[in-house]
Amino acid sequence: MTGLDVPSTLLADEHRGLLVAGRWREAEGGETFDVLDPADGSVLTRVADASVADAREALDAAVAAQASWAATAPRERGEILRSAFELIRERTDDLARLMSLEMGKTVAEATGEVGYGNEFFRWYSEEAVRIHGRWMQAPAGGSRLLTLKKPVGPCFFVTPWNFPLAMGTRKIGPAIAAGCTMVVKPAAQTPLTMLALARILGEAGLPDGVLNVVPSTRAGEMSQALQGDDRLRKVSFTGSTGVGKVLVRQSADQLQRVSMELGGNAPFLVFADADVDAAVDGAMVAKMRNMGEACTAANRFLVHSSVAEEFADKLGKRMGALTVGRGQDEGVDVGPLIDAKAVESVTALVAGAVEGGAKVVCGGTPLGGDGWFYPPTVLLDVPVGSDLNRQEIFGPVAPVTTFETEDEAVERANDTEYGLASYVYTRDLSRTIRLAERLDFGMVGVNTGLISNPAAPFGGVKASGFGREGGFEGIEEYLETTYVALPAG
Ligand code: NAD
Repeated sequence: MTGLDVPSTLLADEHRGLLVAGRWREAEGGETFDVLDPADGSVLTRVADASVADAREALDAAVAAQASWAATAPRERGEILRSAFELIRERTDDLARLMSLEMGKTVAEATGEVGYGNEFFRWYSEEAVRIHGRWMQAPAGGSRLLTLKKPVGPCFFVTPWNFPLAMGTRKIGPAIAAGCTMVVKPAAQTPLTMLALARILGEAGLPDGVLNVVPSTRAGEMSQALQGDDRLRKVSFTGSTGVGKVLVRQSADQLQRVSMELGGNAPFLVFADADVDAAVDGAMVAKMRNMGEACTAANRFLVHSSVAEEFADKLGKRMGALTVGRGQDEGVDVGPLIDAKAVESVTALVAGAVEGGAKVVCGGTPLGGDGWFYPPTVLLDVPVGSDLNRQEIFGPVAPVTTFETEDEAVERANDTEYGLASYVYTRDLSRTIRLAERLDFGMVGVNTGLISNPAAPFGGVKASGFGREGGFEGIEEYLETTYVALPAG
């Protein structure tokens, strides 16, 4: 049944089932689906394929556990997260290898994600004991105004394949800290990391029913059924803008609270006064992290005309020197894309830009053979209106265009439906402040290509969604406010 070689401390056979009410079990009717290795398309293993009835049972379990979980002392909730953090830290190597196998990224990158994702557990283990309200005198005197914070209630989480651990921990961490129960549906391409995470949380002492996991190939039917149930109080989704809109519409009938972490089209601005070598270093991170399969990936390089050729040339040399291959092999820098569709989509975007006049600095054609590989690619003089500049690439392609003035750079950067991440390279402090205020994005990286940080509020505006994950803001997504009016003497 499996070509998967993982230690049983991480995933025993039973952990390829569903987790409902603390019990690992098969799906209704025993259905399963294949988990593939993107490096060669072979079947790694099979995982239980939850039905809508299974998901309803998972919601029943979350609802049944909600009251006692909400009543659990904050310190206890925090300590469960802290224990899970320690267990993940001990098992980092095994988790990274498992993630690399199912998702394709290199073991080094997967190790980085385990560390990053785990920090959400540490951060929210510390935040669990800092949930507090307010006591104030009414402005006109007399009454006193008290505000309380309460957990929002049972949640439904849908996570994507590109960061199989971190996209889970940044929802699960604050939900546990706030006292919410949950049903989680991981992406069908990468369910194994989430199952391993669920097992670890059980070992850390999370009570039965607080976290239920239902891998499934029936995401649409499942979300419709769960969101139609008035006991579900919150949906948090990370994925494409199209699916996000479906979930927001579905939230209307029961007026569920929603958090949406959706797509991006990040501009990467390099001004004439920038340190070009530093900008190339930052571009390597902002573009090549996760093979470009990140919603924060730099998608459009807007470079002042006086430094554009130097920037494209240096970036092309660095990207062209990367080794593409299986993520578990030594010396590999860039793994495969997630599936054949991803390679087709990147290939079409690059071909369209080249037909429109873009010059290929490096890469530009799919590698073929087994597995879903696309080479690191740099293109110069990409037509501004090309699909490559307008759509989310989700692959290792860096399109470079030029600008002349700061106003033009800002206008072009903001000329997108998305508003997640943006990056600026400049040595002018006043410009930095102007840009931070003028760029219509939820996040601005200044002279850095890496903005994700568990202590900071990650999230976007416009078609990139709403709500924040991480930081002090992240836990607010899982808390309701009750106001109590009190007479005073
Ligand atoms: P996707 O939207 O197709 O899938 C994401 C998840 O949604 C998967 O678990 C999938 O099974 C599920 N899904 C699909 N249809 C559904 C439905 N009708 N109801 C409920 N769930 C449904 O996206 P993807 O291809 O997995 O991921 C890539 C996209 O995610 C990119 O657009 C990327 O920008 C975005 N993303 C955003 C962030 C962020 O934090 N903003 C992070 C990672 C990825």
